[in-house]
Amino acid sequence: MSEHFDVVVIGAGPAGYVAAIRAAQLGLKVACIDDFIGKDGKPALGGTCLNVGCIPSKALLDSSRQFHNLEHNFAVHGITAANAAMDVGVMIGRKDKIVRQFTGGITALFKANKVTAIAGFATLQPDRKVSVKQVDGGSREFSATNVILAAGSVPIELPFAKFDGERIVDNAGALDFTAVPKRFGVIGAGVIGLELGSVWKRLGSEVTILEALPDFLAAADADIAKAAAREFKKQGLDIRLGAKVTAVALKKDGVHLAYVDGNGEQSLVVDKLLVAVGRRAATKGLLGEGTGVQLDERGRVQVDEHCHSGVDGIWAIGDCVRGPMLAHKGSEEGVAVAELIAGMPGHVNLDTVPWVIYTEPEVAWVGKTEAECKASGIEVRTGSFPFAAVGRAVAMNETAGMVKVIAHAKSDRLLGVHIVGAAASEMIHEAVVAMEFKGSAEDLARICHAHPTLSEAVHEAALAVDKRAIHKAN
Ligand code: FAD
Ligand code: NAD
Repeated sequence: MSEHFDVVVIGAGPAGYVAAIRAAQLGLKVACIDDFIGKDGKPALGGTCLNVGCIPSKALLDSSRQFHNLEHNFAVHGITAANAAMDVGVMIGRKDKIVRQFTGGITALFKANKVTAIAGFATLQPDRKVSVKQVDGGSREFSATNVILAAGSVPIELPFAKFDGERIVDNAGALDFTAVPKRFGVIGAGVIGLELGSVWKRLGSEVTILEALPDFLAAADADIAKAAAREFKKQGLDIRLGAKVTAVALKKDGVHLAYVDGNGEQSLVVDKLLVAVGRRAATKGLLGEGTGVQLDERGRVQVDEHCHSGVDGIWAIGDCVRGPMLAHKGSEEGVAVAELIAGMPGHVNLDTVPWVIYTEPEVAWVGKTEAECKASGIEVRTGSFPFAAVGRAVAMNETAGMVKVIAHAKSDRLLGVHIVGAAASEMIHEAVVAMEFKGSAEDLARICHAHPTLSEAVHEAALAVDKRAIHKAN
């Protein structure tokens, strides 16, 4: 007979493990099944985010930032160091240690909350049964009152540039180079391309990023994308827009790319190629015959605003459903679904999910861009403020970038806040709170901000919506 659980969660990434822990906190009997195998060949909890995504990429971004600053940005402070060197092995070892610390942390949290962890590949069967092909070769079946699908996502592979794990890599490969590639190519100037392109550029690679779209960072506000592009260009990131890759060939002297842009046929030779053209929901093999659960045209599990699939007791959260593919969006959905299962109100407001790109400077936003407002026929007033006029930014030698606040022209309600600048990832939460409480630009403008801080740029940009910024001409 199959063992019964109140909740079976498939996937132990940030969406799944948070759902499992919250459900267990609420007194439910929970199992969480995950098939991820870590670098050491053993099952590892935490999914993409902890193993090959958010956490390891931020570890490398930080190591490379320290090295770059030492080499290029400390002289202005009077600090110089002769023969600065980067030991890539030590950097990767530090990253692996951080990954182990956090994946091990989830194992400990599962134990503490009495969540049963099962290593294997799970398939949902009709009547809330789940069959599992275990990593150790065995197979099992469980029954559940509720099943939460949290299978996450996998990188999209281009048919003419198949990953070989050596010279053509995905995110996992680009987080594990053993030496700095001389020529590093990236297909896709999205979040992964910019973050991992920055890492290897700072360590000395010649980085070329080929982007199919004619516009840079099309998802961001145009003013912010323009300011970010200017800074990335100064750093030597060679971003080629409107570049459609047509062929990739592995040759002795490197990876040869053929692409077409506005000037016709072009070519590029690199030592390592990262393909970062987006991710797709990991729903292959997730659903057995006759479950009734539907996938949409992009292979994502179809759900309503409460992450319910429409089939009794079957829920889905995180990267495998609609909405942004972000760890914090998935984990909020995990909490909401666990609470709904326990009979509590659970809710995620997708309109106030913040976005952050961890480049230098950082890019962060919440809400709509000015172009999105215009396209929806919403009249807006905007205010912006440059970090170059902020005392703390000048004292820190971090003057690049700006804050832009977008408010409804009549009601003044905040519709979007966009930041490119140092610590944008932290500053954006002031705007998230204001928008979650349905605040106005005037609310932000009337809040006392500590001086001197970078956040004063948010305050001044909010004042600028009403043309009364103090430290710039309105
Ligand atoms: P995942 O983290 O993908 O976890 C799903 C888990 O389910 C995996 O372990 C998978 O092996 C397992 N699984 C899948 N199918 C089955 C099955 N049938 N049976 C058993 N197990 C299964 N987001 C941010 O918010 N901030 C960042 O800074 C950030 N940086 C990123 C950097 C990189 C390089 C990448 C690739 C992604 C980054 N992301 C970031 C995105 C973030 O990693 C994802 O949004 C997040 O991991 C999604 O969480 P999830 O739980 O839905 O899925
Ligand atoms: P992305 O959607 O951010 O960017 C992919 C880029 O590739 C786009 O600009 C797209 O126009 C371009 N592209 C698509 N096909 C192409 C082709 N054939 N040739 C050239 N360019 C092409 O995807 P990603 O960078 O792979 O990241 C996947 C997701 O992971 C992100 O959307 C994000 O949700 C998540 N992520 C988040 C963070 C973060 O929060 N800081 C970091 C990394 C990844």
